Amino acid sequence: MGRVAYVNGRFVPHGEAVVHIEDRGYQFGDAIYEVWALFDGKLADAEGHFARLERSLGELSIDMPMSRAALTLVLKETVRRNRVRDGMLYLQVSRGVARRDHPFPNPPVRPAVIMTVNATNRAAAEARAAKGVSVVTTPENRWGRCDIKTVNLIPNVLAKQKARAAGAVEAWFVDELGFVTEGGSSNAWIVDGDGRLRTRDTNANILRGVTRSSLLEVIRRDGLEVDERPFTPAEALAAREAFITGAGTLVLPVIAVDGKPVGEGTPGPVATRLRRLYIEQAKASAI
Ligand code: PLP
Repeated sequence: MGRVAYVNGRFVPHGEAVVHIEDRGYQFGDAIYEVWALFDGKLADAEGHFARLERSLGELSIDMPMSRAALTLVLKETVRRNRVRDGMLYLQVSRGVARRDHPFPNPPVRPAVIMTVNATNRAAAEARAAKGVSVVTTPENRWGRCDIKTVNLIPNVLAKQKARAAGAVEAWFVDELGFVTEGGSSNAWIVDGDGRLRTRDTNANILRGVTRSSLLEVIRRDGLEVDERPFTPAEALAAREAFITGAGTLVLPVIAVDGKPVGEGTPGPVATRLRRLYIEQAKASAI
């Protein structure tokens, strides 16, 4: 069986899944998205992603396309039809289809909804985590509402392409004060010289990572200390460890920043342990 996508109320073969040319997501980036990691065909951190979805939609005055219960059913059915056990579930909601005009359509139109599923090779992901990844830094050049998970990702696309060209996996945006804000698709962390965890607070202009929030619970249960304070690339290089979090990367050790090693230049014990603990919790609580 091939891949299946959900498009505005219908399940269609992935290769035939299309949206209208006047979808406002396509023309204005007037859309938001969410991504769930899938473990054993179940949605990880479901509640956190639903809460952020509702918040993103609310900030843009787009209606929830259906109730949370109905959305959960459709998301799970999309996963089931794709027969994916480990992977990623993508949901995008745009303001809808309307004749091109910048202000909101009046009267309002129905939000447009698409869902896709991608399989992940968990063995390859674990091998990558065991080796660790590199990041590069790049000047922060995004708008002032990075807390809304919109599809306006061109700065992230360019930053991540810069990373790829340098043989790295992620790009860390650095603000005008010299602090790392977050990665192109992840939140950034270090374990400082005293063994204390540090990650930027979410009052800053960053996405409130759901994996970040779940990991904070894991960390507190584990008795580790966290300082929600930003760090500079120089502090990352002087740190014992660094890592990134996100639905795509889970908890992924960072071994180099801009080509220079972090700590020993190998995945550290804290990040390695937190990856294991996070995955255990995510699996146990997946729905
Ligand atoms: N920051 C950005 C810019 C992202 O795009 C993402 C995820 O895609 C994250 C952080 C991590 O968020 P989450 O843990 O909810 O996946």
